[in-house]
Amino acid sequence: MSLLLDNIGLLVTNEPEQPERTDAALVIDGGIVAWVGTAADAPTADERIDAEGRCVIPGFVDSHSHVVFAGDRSDEFEHRMRGEKYAAGGIRRTVRLTREASDEELLAGASRLVAEMRAQGTTTVEIKSGYGLTTVDEERALRIAKTLTTETTYLGAHVVPEEFADDPAGYVGLVTGDMLEACAPHAKWIDVFCDRGAFDEDQARAILTAGQARGLQARMHGAQLGPSGAVQLAVELGAASVDHCTFLTDDDVDALVNSATVATLLPGVEFSTRQPYPDARRLIDAGVTVALACDCNPGSSFTSSMPFCIAVAVRDMGFTPAEALWAATAGGAAALRRDDVGGLAVGQRGDAVMLDAPSYVHLAYRPGVPLVHRVVSV
Ligand SMILES: [Zn+2]
Repeated sequence: MSLLLDNIGLLVTNEPEQPERTDAALVIDGGIVAWVGTAADAPTADERIDAEGRCVIPGFVDSHSHVVFAGDRSDEFEHRMRGEKYAAGGIRRTVRLTREASDEELLAGASRLVAEMRAQGTTTVEIKSGYGLTTVDEERALRIAKTLTTETTYLGAHVVPEEFADDPAGYVGLVTGDMLEACAPHAKWIDVFCDRGAFDEDQARAILTAGQARGLQARMHGAQLGPSGAVQLAVELGAASVDHCTFLTDDDVDALVNSATVATLLPGVEFSTRQPYPDARRLIDAGVTVALACDCNPGSSFTSSMPFCIAVAVRDMGFTPAEALWAATAGGAAALRRDDVGGLAVGQRGDAVMLDAPSYVHLAYRPGVPLVHRVVSV
């Protein structure tokens, strides 16, 4: 089954030599991009969609989400907006509610959020565990996540649960022992929240190296709440991505340059916690590969909208619209070590998003407006 997307006003493919084309067309065959070129030269296909001059972009790759959970923390958000500070401890409240929820409730909630993401142009999503924090509940979260994506992440090391408050070392032992054994078959990635109030660098090192030894690839939450050694540890361990990067030292930026580690920025978090935004300009100018993701979670960033994140990234973090779109597509793919998504070059997956706009600049220029006209995807 081949599909011709014709009469595209502006097509973004993220090809290094020619990332954008005007008056373009695209052929998708068997779910894969088979041809890209000017509309006048377009070949025929089994089916044709007239883009009517719209902008077509690659589907967003949201490389960071926590959508398997139960409950609501809007009251916490309300308090925060009245001036209370964000702390990692609110996670334990979601843990309590998630443990009490049925499989069906958790799957329904996660499915609803993934559908919400898709309606806003996201065609690849990563999903973490991390609200179970027992062997049974973490494995259950990953089984549920696995039905929605291949990009599943074991985050037993989200916070130390209440029952281990007096024995954090014992909890790290569980995370690197029985819990890892149960979760590894259902996960591609292992992640750790390495920050104040969560896990320190020694614990993070023990957790990520145990996961790597079990065949999982590493990623990390780091430098969200303050500067720490987390970013340099992520680089040292060859993590695919270090996420947040809100507080970076010059040494952190130097470590990220020429490393295999992507810096993933999460604008929804700073927006929803009133923390200072990370300086993307500093990272991009230094040559660091930068991604944008939603970090969809009930505490610090309950948005599923990559267009919203792009708008904030451009308005407040120093991205140009083109850089923000790249970070939300090709950058996210790099953060997941994927080369089949995040672009619309020949051979990549035909995940294309038609915008009700002549240009992707409108994603930032028209914040909060539902601009996704249609999602074409396998
Ligand atoms: Zn997160």
